Amino acid sequence: MASADAQTVLVVEDEASIASFVAMYLRNAGYVVKVAPTGRDALTLAEAHSPALIVLDLMLPDIDGIEVCRRLRQSSEVPILMLTARDEDIDKIVGLEVGADDYLTKPFNPRELVARVKSVLRRSAPERKQATTTQIRHGLLLVDSGRREVQVEGEDVQLAPKEFDLLWELLDHNGLVLTRDQLLERVWGYTFAGDTRTVDVHIRQLRRKLGEASPIVTVWGVGYKAAPTKDSSKDTVTA
Ligand code: CA
Repeated sequence: MASADAQTVLVVEDEASIASFVAMYLRNAGYVVKVAPTGRDALTLAEAHSPALIVLDLMLPDIDGIEVCRRLRQSSEVPILMLTARDEDIDKIVGLEVGADDYLTKPFNPRELVARVKSVLRRSAPERKQATTTQIRHGLLLVDSGRREVQVEGEDVQLAPKEFDLLWELLDHNGLVLTRDQLLERVWGYTFAGDTRTVDVHIRQLRRKLGEASPIVTVWGVGYKAAPTKDSSKDTVTA
């Protein structure tokens, strides 16, 4: 049962049977659940209820999930878990490219959906916002963890929330290799074996957005690390 301080999850799904099934599992897990059957309803309810997380189906009758995600991202960092109908990479990649945090392919186990929702919410809890700001400079790149801002040669670069977290995790490990499973655990909060393609898709996006300033090195068969650089520093600034 939802307690007074329960977090709200918005479920965007036009198939009533799936929507009610997902809503039931999430309510049993203690969340307040709002259901939107269309993309337009999703945008309206997201505005009205400021949900802690959005479960967003890709195929909707009016505005599709990709476009809903893109519009939400213009003003919000709310975690978004995309549902895709088919196990096709293209759907997943496109979903993540517009700033979704993760995806799940239908048919999915509702317990896995609840586990992922919990993981994502644990990761985005407010305790991550600290009173102090840490900046890491790496070559042309300046990353500010408090403001969650990234600059390349003084120009702002817009990153999706998980892209930022992934970049920070790699830089903060200062050249140490992290495996895909470690990154899933640290950035997405999974304590079980998840789908590591999520990591690869986010890495690809980071490289595309950062261009030559990208510090990310693939360590074949292992994972990823930040490249060593002579011009690297980490400062802790009290806000
Ligand atoms: Ca649908």
